[in-house]
Amino acid sequence: MSEMGLIVQKYGGTSVKDAERVMNVARRITAAYQAGNNVVVAVSAQGDTTDELIEKANEINPRASKREMDMLLSTGEQISIALLAMAIEKLGYPVISLTGWQAGMHTNSNYGAARIKTIDTERIRMELDRRRIVIVAGFQGINKYDDITTLGRGGSDTSAVALAAALRADVCEIYTDVDGVYTTDPRICSKAYKLDEISYDEMLELASLGANVLHNRSVEMAKKYNVKLSVRSSLNNNEGTYVKEVSKVEKMLVRGVTRDNDCARIALCGVEDAPGKAFQVFEMIAKAGISVDLIIQSIGDGQTKDISFTVAEADLEPALKLLEENNDFIKAREIKSSKDVSKVSIVGAGMVNNSGVAAKMFEALYDAHINIKMIATSEIKISVLVAQKDAENAVNAIHDKFLSK
Ligand code: ASP
Ligand code: MG
Repeated sequence: MSEMGLIVQKYGGTSVKDAERVMNVARRITAAYQAGNNVVVAVSAQGDTTDELIEKANEINPRASKREMDMLLSTGEQISIALLAMAIEKLGYPVISLTGWQAGMHTNSNYGAARIKTIDTERIRMELDRRRIVIVAGFQGINKYDDITTLGRGGSDTSAVALAAALRADVCEIYTDVDGVYTTDPRICSKAYKLDEISYDEMLELASLGANVLHNRSVEMAKKYNVKLSVRSSLNNNEGTYVKEVSKVEKMLVRGVTRDNDCARIALCGVEDAPGKAFQVFEMIAKAGISVDLIIQSIGDGQTKDISFTVAEADLEPALKLLEENNDFIKAREIKSSKDVSKVSIVGAGMVNNSGVAAKMFEALYDAHINIKMIATSEIKISVLVAQKDAENAVNAIHDKFLSK
């Protein structure tokens, strides 16, 4: 197999949702094989199977153990590998399906969010040497007790990248129902367009800001092992987006704009202006397992100051309860909160060495008469908090400013 190319492909749930789509995927796989490549495929459960399995479990025991949940959820992928292998058999090609454990996917024991530790590739290599197409169940592995584990929702991307890294594949192609990675969500900005390429770091930021294209950990792993990723559609032959190490000249100032409505703001007004206040507040919040995103603290006047921060919407009630219960100790004059806020962010590796990016972003918002409530910056990202009703306008205004063609 050393002379041949090795491609790892991944097909998501929508790409294999019914018999017709499974046949379509089988044809794409066999075309790559026919072109002279060795092909290993990671596949997700069909359509909404995973959600349906979770519902089934909830009907019986909403507090089922994580081990049994993984036993159940892993069956979704086992169905798709068998069906896909049957489709490839029908086209007359040599193929074999393998579950996670048959494929040597060893994970830790963190059921429901397991991490891949090693892949024992012996079986896969043996099958490739026999010129078989290898179909591997995504999202699952096996731990040291020989129990089935799953990698967390969306984890098939990570299975594919791990396979590509372990097998030293030439490329890892992630097939989905969109054409690639866009400058922003085309549903809210008609001028959004597909990017030809994006760096690992930019993709990581976009993934954690809620651009729902790739599983975060798959990007981390691709970066670590330098796996070249291609994100593309299983429904057409358009060139997708390459995720790779981008050279200096190719660095764009701003590569994408995101919006996240799932955030809520808490403001602690009139907190005593003394050392240790922020520590007290955020330690308490962290101990409750609540993650904080943007933080802002006003200049104190020696007497009092204001501290505000954002959390995910689902964490708002528990965070407020905690703060109110402990206010004897924190002594905020008033605790305010709002869910009607959104976080709008720009991401671009080129902003590291460029001053003026923030000013340009704020100018776009000013021109659109949008008030900024909070600001946070990092090396390759700037986020602002705005009223939720303004978020779509904000995305469009910022996209026009930085990314108009
Ligand atoms: N079937 C799993 C899920 O829905 C894994 C995946 O699709 O990547 O989360
Ligand atoms: Mg996915």
